Amino acid sequence: MLKQSDFLNLKESTWCAGCTNFALHRALVQALIELNIKPHNTAITFDIGCAGNACNIYKTYGFHLLHGRIIPVAMGAKTANDKLTVIAIGGDGGVYGEGVGHLIEACRANPDITTIVSNNKLYSLTKGQASPTSKKGVKTKSTPYGLDKPALNPLTRALSSEAKFIARGYTGEVKHLTEIFKKAISYKGFSLVDVLQPCITLDKINTREYYKERVYRLGKNWPTKNKDKAFKKLQEDKKIPLGIFYKK
Ligand code: SF4
Repeated sequence: MLKQSDFLNLKESTWCAGCTNFALHRALVQALIELNIKPHNTAITFDIGCAGNACNIYKTYGFHLLHGRIIPVAMGAKTANDKLTVIAIGGDGGVYGEGVGHLIEACRANPDITTIVSNNKLYSLTKGQASPTSKKGVKTKSTPYGLDKPALNPLTRALSSEAKFIARGYTGEVKHLTEIFKKAISYKGFSLVDVLQPCITLDKINTREYYKERVYRLGKNWPTKNKDKAFKKLQEDKKIPLGIFYKK
């Protein structure tokens, strides 16, 4: 039976103590273990940023890449060896900012890879600048007078770009996140999992308390094949639904 330590060497981590990225990767590794996918059959592409620094701790095959380029390299790895389980991991800056063109192309092309976005709504490694998912009006080091444009909704963008598997998880719900990862990795095609990952060091808005009051799970009978309902649900903003919104 595989163990977390077969995949992870946490001593090499450079994250802040208590960073919610630990929970994300605990869930991801648990999903790989439960799917009986071995480290030597797994390749992960990592972006720049706190999310990408997970590259330090994995014992799988890994590529630490230029900002925004995790998806095309993951597609290349899968093309070269289709027996590998291939996962691309980045933050909201890398995937929804610098790499958003690659995301849209992957939604259209439907390669058999999983993209996981550690979405903390900030550029955290560089100490807290606004990212594409930061809310309008938010004051950060790069927006001292308040951000003057609306947040990108990455999942409606992916859905309108013909993505066929779209999900959202939360690092405060590790078991639920593990189940989402299992389904995303097992899916034969491009799967996108946006993970709400509060930055406990730099963010005083999107905190664990903020999410605790707002997140809820889509019910068991959620119609995952209904694109119109997924589109509407993904625009909900007072509460924050979690789960698999769309799967074709
Ligand atoms: Fe985690 Fe935020 Fe620290 Fe980065 S800055 S390691 S996201 S807590």
